[in-house]
Amino acid sequence: MVFGHPDKFYRILEPKEYENEVNIGNVVLGIETAEHLLNWKKFQAHLECCVKSHENISVYERAELAGAERLHGDTEHRFKLNFNLEMKNGTVHHSTVHSDYVVNSTWHEIEKINGSAGFSQNLISRTNRLKVLLHVRLPDSMLNFHSMFFCIGAFCMFSNLGDGTALVSYAPVTNINMSTEVSVSTDTLRLLTEGPSEKESICLSDGIRRGAATFIPEIEKAEVLGLNFGIVQTLGTVNLHDVNSPFHKRAYFGVRSESAGWISNPCMKLLYLLENGDIVKTLWRNSLKKIVTCEIRSGWLPYTVI
Ligand SMILES: Cc1cc2nc3c(=O)[nH]c(=O)nc-3n(C[C@H](O)[C@H](O)[C@H](O)COP(=O)(O)OP(=O)(O)OC[C@H]3O[C@@H](n4cnc5c(N)ncnc54)[C@H](O)[C@@H]3O)c2cc1C
Repeated sequence: MVFGHPDKFYRILEPKEYENEVNIGNVVLGIETAEHLLNWKKFQAHLECCVKSHENISVYERAELAGAERLHGDTEHRFKLNFNLEMKNGTVHHSTVHSDYVVNSTWHEIEKINGSAGFSQNLISRTNRLKVLLHVRLPDSMLNFHSMFFCIGAFCMFSNLGDGTALVSYAPVTNINMSTEVSVSTDTLRLLTEGPSEKESICLSDGIRRGAATFIPEIEKAEVLGLNFGIVQTLGTVNLHDVNSPFHKRAYFGVRSESAGWISNPCMKLLYLLENGDIVKTLWRNSLKKIVTCEIRSGWLPYTVI
């Protein structure tokens, strides 16, 4: 029981318990839960340390997988992976890896890489949704505010990180775009890798802060620290404003075997990572032959694990 006894997991709040923090005109019902925020940065550092210190794993950082080929008729290996390796001096070297087994965990790039490896016929319907979170320094008056999630609708989220800062979203601004294309757009890639222009940054930060302030007025006083971009993936299509849209749940694992030796491994929610690992392991064991090559993508840094 991570969150205590089930009977104590949630409590209906009286409006007077949150009227000083929240615009109660926007709230039908307030519920307190026993959930806690996980310190993802610490957790990520721990996982990285485990992977990097494992004697059977080699980690290649700054290694972009540009594409893959299926080696029909090759008796030694099933696949060739083409990498762009970024050197310390900034130059890029091309490198190839031959392998019999691949776990493709490149998230929004999975379908693109699968397509290059000749699995276009397996492509599934899914939506890549680019989101942005606003990182703010809290005014003193907000240091002890609870984390809050305003649902059900395209509303707002506030995560108090406990170090004087918080992450904030305001759904109408936070959800920047979505696409069912095989590859994400160049604009999306730019925001993910290079970040926004100054004008975009001001526009997004102001939009999120102002929108969130309609729920938590004090947030207008928060100081903008930065914007964090990322992609949420959903099977099928997404309608943000439809409460019945299945995208709200994402209660499924996206792991699938594309062919002998090739597994696609999108982690539909961070907290599914253990189950994803188990499913990959089972699929992998079932098709294990001789050489083992896998790729693990962790956090926001590209890792290739061979
Ligand atoms: C704003 C936001 C809030 C979220 N909130 C939650 C939440 O509260 N709870 C929850 O459970 N989930 C949440 N998620 C979803 C969660 O982040 C994802 O489900 C999860 O990160 C997917 O894990 P992954 O390992 O499959 O992909 P990622 O974590 O995206 O890892 C993929 C890795 O592959 C690398 N990569 C991609 N292409 C290549 C390539 N060609 N070559 C080399 N490397 C490549 C990337 O650099 C990245 O490091 C949120 C997502 C966003 C964007």
